Formats: sequence, structure tokens, C-alpha cells
Amino acid sequence: MHQPTTQARPSLYYRYQIFQPWLPSAHPAQDRKKVVIVGSGPAGMVAALELARLGVPSVILSSEQQVSQGSRAIVFTRRSMEILQQVGVAERMTENGLPWRFGNSYYRGQRVFRMEAPHDPDDRFFPMLNIQQQFMEQYLLETCQASPLIDFRWGNKVTQVAQDSELARVSVDTPEGPYTLETDWLIAADGGRSEIRAAMNLKMEGSSYEGFFVIADIRIDLPLPTERLAYFDPDWNPGNTILMHREPHGIWRVDYQLPPGETPEEALRPESLKQRIDAQLAMIGHAGVPWEMDWNSVYSARNLTLPDYVQGRVLFTGDAAHLLPIFGVRGANTAFQDAQSLAWHLAFVVKGLASKKLLANHSRERVGAAREIIAEAGKSTRFMAPPSPGFRLLRDAVLSLSLTEAFVRPLYHWRTSRPHEYADSALNSLGDDNALFQSGPAHGAPPQNICLGSNDFLLDHLGGGFDLLYFTQAATIPESLQQVVTAIRARGVPLKIIAIGNTERVAGADLTLADADGHFRQRYGVSTSGAAYLLRPDQHVCARWLTLDANRLQAALNIALPQS
Ligand SMILES: Cc1cc2nc3c(=O)[nH]c(=O)nc-3n(C[C@H](O)[C@H](O)[C@H](O)COP(=O)(O)OP(=O)(O)OC[C@H]3O[C@@H](n4cnc5c(N)ncnc54)[C@H](O)[C@@H]3O)c2cc1C
Repeated sequence: MHQPTTQARPSLYYRYQIFQPWLPSAHPAQDRKKVVIVGSGPAGMVAALELARLGVPSVILSSEQQVSQGSRAIVFTRRSMEILQQVGVAERMTENGLPWRFGNSYYRGQRVFRMEAPHDPDDRFFPMLNIQQQFMEQYLLETCQASPLIDFRWGNKVTQVAQDSELARVSVDTPEGPYTLETDWLIAADGGRSEIRAAMNLKMEGSSYEGFFVIADIRIDLPLPTERLAYFDPDWNPGNTILMHREPHGIWRVDYQLPPGETPEEALRPESLKQRIDAQLAMIGHAGVPWEMDWNSVYSARNLTLPDYVQGRVLFTGDAAHLLPIFGVRGANTAFQDAQSLAWHLAFVVKGLASKKLLANHSRERVGAAREIIAEAGKSTRFMAPPSPGFRLLRDAVLSLSLTEAFVRPLYHWRTSRPHEYADSALNSLGDDNALFQSGPAHGAPPQNICLGSNDFLLDHLGGGFDLLYFTQAATIPESLQQVVTAIRARGVPLKIIAIGNTERVAGADLTLADADGHFRQRYGVSTSGAAYLLRPDQHVCARWLTLDANRLQAALNIALPQS
């Protein structure tokens, strides 16, 4: 019998709530479900919320009775916030998080590089926001609980999965014993140690790095702004790297590399932690400031992905699908993009609006994203923790040259999580004008946000299906385009027309956004009336035209929604 702990996890800043387990005896016999999601981390909950937005019900099974332990993810990117806006939790994240956009790299006591992440007036969200994962999970949970389409089951541990071509059969253990669920589709969002992945004997591809890092979250009052701090080769930890981040509630994360050969057990001894944290504080000029330990752990860098996220009726997402390196805040940020992508592709299959080819496309796109991340993150990992004498020699040359030579300093910059552009997606239009545009978001890119007025942005108005951005000076959307839209809507496909260009309402559009000064047109690379962009439900561009007509729109929709 599964007995998850009912003791609240310790924390200096977060009050854990214990939720009641879902017990089969309190519910009628279980009918077959459309979607069951294993895991209530960021990937599982965002997938459920996105599915619900598209009208698809799901059951979330969570083995625990409280949100995740310790401070895990703390840095969330702008794109993550845009996705979280879609599922309704961005406002609470912004209210309670710490925004930032500068990073500082230090070597031999000198700041050798200052990273400045661009922040445009058209962006609603900062490039980065720091907030602990528990808060993010709590906001997602409360939103899930408010949805009539999400059946959230605490204390329900999946112990076995079987499948045939029609369905998956899931064995679930609870504090009062087991029950079985049948489902058309099973989403495995059960995290990095995915037991479903292991039980299905699926092998991940890629490599792991040998070095270990300690993460320690401490409560301390430091008079420093919210900016990333990176220290290379300091006297107290020769050859190694230390990172520091401010978190809400007076918490700081100190993240340091261990000398080769030191075991995690040695590293996590209280005396070892104290000595190193004190040394780091002394180095940055704050020796003797009192601090308290909240949480610590050891991790290593892994660069692994499943080669296919669709395994029959079982769909892998988030950490269950891939394990990404630590540098560049990629785990949760990538999990949001995975979940958002999976949810719309799956919802359209579940609703019979497209064939299973959509799922194959999802896998291809997201495996491509994981591979891109792995390649980029491998570079930063090799810089932060050189894996061989050759890499160390090169890295040390950059460090020492950077003291005097400005040209090597940008080599300190490591790329953080960013949305993958699905430039080669099978859903991109073949006959549009993508190649003729000089600027604006291209095939597969996420949209460029636009500030429309005070506290009013383009992305506030998108979502819940396809969006057609139609640039026009006319008073009406052409009748032939309206006919295509009406016909596709009649099939159940959600598609919104947003007219851009007139201050007066454009007849036939669901919404008109004024572009009096042409700023919107300029950012989208459009100069003529009749140009358009088609955005998929995850907002990525799948077609764009300098002039749109009904045939071209129909052709793009046929490609984006394969039927056979
Ligand atoms: C120390 C640390 C620091 C990190 N910092 C960052 C950061 O700054 N930025 C960032 O983007 N990422 C960061 N990450 C990574 C981030 O925490 C993960 O990538 C993210 O939580 C993955 O989300 P997920 O939903 O895929 O999996 P998880 O969050 O691991 O969720 C898995 C869920 O599945 C449940 N589960 C597991 N097995 C079963 C089962 N058999 N039955 C039912 N339920 C089950 C678990 O209880 C859990 O709810 C960090 C991670 C760690 C460990």
C-alpha cells in the first residue's frame, strides 16, 4: 500500500500544505479516461491546464501529498512567463518573483564580463524572474483545482503501465490500496527518475559529465541587487566555479563545483557546507554575516534525451523525456515548452481534428529542441566545468586573457534557455511567403510581443487555438477568407481572426487592434494591406504571407492539421 509522507517538508520560507489523498472507495467505478497524466510537476500541470483550455479533460496522478521538496527551479525565462500567462498564473509569478536581466562574471577579484539580457518596451515580462519552484507549483495547482476538466489525485502512485494499440492500462496504488485506470493516452510527466521510462526499458541518448555541484539555499541578508553572479577559479575553490542568485524571502542560492574525487556525502557534511559558504561570503566582502541553511543537495550535469517522446499510447514530457544540463536554467523552462507543445498536438488528435501525425510532429519538434539545448548547454558546461585537460587549458586561457583583453570577454556569456524555433516543422506552410519577408518572426518562431497600450500586449489577446493576424486598412475581412474560417470552425477547429491596422472595428474579425503609428507592422515586417501571419495554438508561426488569399489560407491549414 502506498503511504506517502504526511509530514510537511521543512522550509524556512515556504509553508507546505498536506493535501488529502484521493481514495478509490470514495468514488464510483472508474470509466475509461481520455488522458491520464502521471506527475504533478511543472510539465504535468501545464499539460493538464493547456488540455483543459482546449476542452480536453484529464486526470493528474501524483504520488505525493504536497508540492516538491526544497528549492528546485528558481529562474524562469520570459518565454516561460508567456506560456504561464496562457495557463493563468503569470500574474502571481510576477507579483511574488524577483525580475532581473544582468549577469556578472568575476575572475581574480575583477568583474570581467557583464551580461545584459535585452528588455524591449514590447515585452510584458522581464528576461528572467526568480521565484522558488514550490510557489510556481502552488499557483499551477490552484489553477488546476479550479478547472472542472482536471481531476487532481494526490497520493496516487503509478506502479505499472501496460498498453495495446487502443489504450493504456495504469495500475495505481493509494493509501487504501490499488485500483486500475484505463486511458486513451497516458502522459508520463513523472520526472527525471521516471519509473515508467525505466519499466518500458527506454534508453536515453547523450552523455553525462563527471563533476558534481552543490546547491545550497541559505537565508541571509545581503545588500546586493538581483543579478546573476559567477566566480571563476576563486582562491577558496581553485579551478572551480561558483554561482549565486537572489531568491524571494531573503534566500540566496550558492551553487559551487566540487574538487574532483570529493563524494556527495563528504560535500554535504554540515562542516564542509559551512566552511565553503563562509569562504564564499568572505570572498565577496560579507564575511561574518549570519546565515541559516534552508536546503542543500548535490547534482551532476547530464545531457540526455529519449530519441522519441511518443511510445504508442504513452507520451513522455519534461524531465521524464530528457535530462538537461544545469547551466542555463533549462529543466523547468524546457518542461513548460514541452507541455504546451504536447497539449495542443494531443488535444487536436483527441478531438479528431487531425491525425496521429500531429503526435509524431510533436516528438520531432521537441526532440529537436532537446538536442539543440544539449549542444548549446554542452558548450557552457565545458566552460564552467572543463571535462578534460584540453578544455581546461582553453578555458584558463580565456580567464587569464580576459583580465586585459576585452575581445575574449564575451566568451563568458553562456546562453540561457530560449524557445526553439521549429524552422523545419512539418506543419509549416509550403506555399506561403516566409522567404520573402525581411524581418518579423519566421516559420516556427514564437511571436514577437507588441505593446498596444498601458498594460496591454498582443500576447494578452492570443491563445486557445489558431490565431490569424490579418494586417489591413480595409473595413472588412475579405468574404473569401471569412468563408475558409467559417468552414474550419464548423469542423471544431478554434481559429480567431485578429485584424491589425484600423482604429475602427474591422467587420468579420474577432478583434481589431489599432496600429496607428505602424509599429506593429514594422515589427512583423509588413508594409502592405492584406499581409497575414498564422499562429498555431502554441503561438509559433506556421505560415506568413505578404498577401493572403483564401486558397493560401486553406493550404496552410491543411498542412498544419494533417488528416491522414
Ligand atoms: C537543485 C535543482 C535546481 C534546479 N534549478 C532550475 C532552474 O533554476 N530553472 C529551471 O528551469 N530548472 C531547474 N531545475 C530543474 C527543474 O526542477 C525540473 O526540470 C522540473 O521540475 C521538471 O519538471 P517535471 O514536471 O518534468 O518533473 P518533476 O518536477 O520532477 O515532477 C515529477 C512529478 O512526478 C511525480 N511522480 C514521480 N513518479 C510518480 C509515480 N510513479 N506516480 C505518480 N507520480 C509520480 C513526482 O511526485 C512529481 O510530482 C532544477 C532542479 C534541481 C534538482
